[in-house]
Amino acid sequence: MTLKPLIAANWKMHGDMSWCDKPYDFADIYPPTEREHLDVLICPPAVLIFPMMEKCGGTDIWLGAQTCHKEKKGAHTGEMSAEMLASAGADYVILGHSERRAMGESSADIRVRVERAKEADLIPIICVGESLKERESGDAEAVVGTQLKASLPEGLTDYVIAYEPIWAIGTGMTATPDDVDAMHRFIRGEVGPNVRILYGGSVKPANAKALLSIPDVNGALIGGAGLEMESLAEIARLA
Ligand code: PGA
Repeated sequence: MTLKPLIAANWKMHGDMSWCDKPYDFADIYPPTEREHLDVLICPPAVLIFPMMEKCGGTDIWLGAQTCHKEKKGAHTGEMSAEMLASAGADYVILGHSERRAMGESSADIRVRVERAKEADLIPIICVGESLKERESGDAEAVVGTQLKASLPEGLTDYVIAYEPIWAIGTGMTATPDDVDAMHRFIRGEVGPNVRILYGGSVKPANAKALLSIPDVNGALIGGAGLEMESLAEIARLA
């Protein structure tokens, strides 16, 4: 089975209301009729999801959130539930990004969030990845394997994995194609043939071709280079 590539931009805490037109800019540069073979996703800050959803009809761009809460509702000041995000127009939600794991989110927390996401019909993008120290000590696969086992609820279907080595995020450093190939093969063995596995960590137009041509790389999760629609489109054209 060929998996449809997913090119996903994680805007993190960037943007304002004026950015809600960006899907139109993207569609001008790379029209929907030319990219039926792939899915394009933008995950803006949550406050922009609804206005973007209202504005980006016809652009064929999916929208996603960057996290969701563990509970369905309740006294959780400042938090947002999976259902709220879905009702605002999100189709996907990134869960377990290393920037959130670094704030104390454990794999067990992430598993609960994945369950909430599925109940709200959001497709979870579950992030895994090792630190530089773990890679250098030869533990990268063991770390990622443990994260996968602990973050994925039993019987989970219709989800996406993003392999993001922590040391490659926002640093300009990327894993070598051989390292990415080996890790994606390992993850494939854990999740089976039907799950899209994205690579993330300093993906940019200059390195996207080498990364996206690796057999078990089914797309990319893009931070910095996904803020500009020209570079996002350049990467998407290589998928
Ligand atoms: P980067 O971020 O592309 O800026 O390295 C990737 C990510 O954090 O998802």
